[in-house]
Amino acid sequence: MQNRNVFEKDRKYIAHTYHRFPAAIKNGHGAQAEDYEGKKYIDFGSGIGTNSLGFCNSKWVLAVVSQVKQLQHTSNLFYTLPDILLAENLCEVTGYSKVFFGNSGAEANEGAIKVARKYGMEVKGEHCNRIITLENSFHGRTVTTLSATGQDIFHQHFFPFTEGFLYVPANNSHVLHETVDETVCAVMIELVQGESGVNVLKKEYVKEVEQICKEKGILLIVDEVQTGVGRTGTFLCCEQYGIHPNVITLAKGLGAGLPIGAVLMDKLTESILQTGDHGSTFGGNPVVCAGALEVLNQIADADFLADVNSKSEYMRKKLSTLPNITDVSGMGLMFGLSLKKDLKAGEIAKKCVENGLLILTAKEKLRVMPPLNISLAEIDKGLNILKECLSGVLS
Ligand SMILES: *Cc1c(COP(=O)(O)O)cnc(C)c1O
Repeated sequence: MQNRNVFEKDRKYIAHTYHRFPAAIKNGHGAQAEDYEGKKYIDFGSGIGTNSLGFCNSKWVLAVVSQVKQLQHTSNLFYTLPDILLAENLCEVTGYSKVFFGNSGAEANEGAIKVARKYGMEVKGEHCNRIITLENSFHGRTVTTLSATGQDIFHQHFFPFTEGFLYVPANNSHVLHETVDETVCAVMIELVQGESGVNVLKKEYVKEVEQICKEKGILLIVDEVQTGVGRTGTFLCCEQYGIHPNVITLAKGLGAGLPIGAVLMDKLTESILQTGDHGSTFGGNPVVCAGALEVLNQIADADFLADVNSKSEYMRKKLSTLPNITDVSGMGLMFGLSLKKDLKAGEIAKKCVENGLLILTAKEKLRVMPPLNISLAEIDKGLNILKECLSGVLS
């Protein structure tokens, strides 16, 4: 099998919903991968922040393989242990009270939205069902999470969208304050807007958002699908903002590459969803949860997170000296690189891939999200490729 055979078959049989880079990844280890012709890549994308422990981390593989040999799935009609242990661990690490498991970020956000709407209805009445989200947010691809996403470009083709979302600009607590009325049951935000350019929300603003929600008796939901599980240098990004939202959603990095989504609920929200209110056929799957438990074993650890932070500082310094980069945004190992005028992120990213570096974009920026356990040597290798692509040395 050659790379081009893979491209051709993909074009023939896979729905054309993705714009793919011309690379067919066959296998990987740590932060390095290979295509079908033996060409090597350094990984600065970790899936899209999903492969938090890199490709095929040995302890994670062992956890997944042992579980798949023991029991791959039953259904949520019966008890299994891996999902319970994972929920217990998540609650211990985060201070939350209960967890609902689904299979993706969008599904986790759907769960959070259901919690908010039922809360509004029970506490304030049927009129209280609207949710405020931010302009330039991204919350998923289902019809409802597209509605929640505060970007017009996502509100096309699929009418009618779910009603009941209001959008306000980020970092403006005055507008938020004015927008919360008796019809609003929750505010949902990302702390670092990943898909729309790794835009870090201001600390004072986020504190004010929490304060407004408390004053008005509405829920605060934080979408940590991309920022959670160590990505920003703490287990939850919320820790760095000093907030404790009512509901947090997790997904991407939690599964280390297997599909999972989680809704974390606090004491106020833990019993809103009752038997029959919500469910998922695959949610809490034993294999995925056994793997995620190993993710927690490794990442929810002070030394591991200290290492993420020191690599973050190291990378940030180096990234900001690269040619044609005008700004470096982000936290932890999640960076957005602004490019000089006329340079197109998509074109630079393609050039990087052609030269052996897997990298992401976010709107008009390059986005760098390596596996959290990437080595310094691999960081240097990746930075060198990026530097050469940015300076135009490589074609
Ligand atoms: C990726 C992402 C989602 C959607 O997750 P899926 O697993 O693709 O459904 C939702 N919110 C944020 C912040 C994300 O980054």
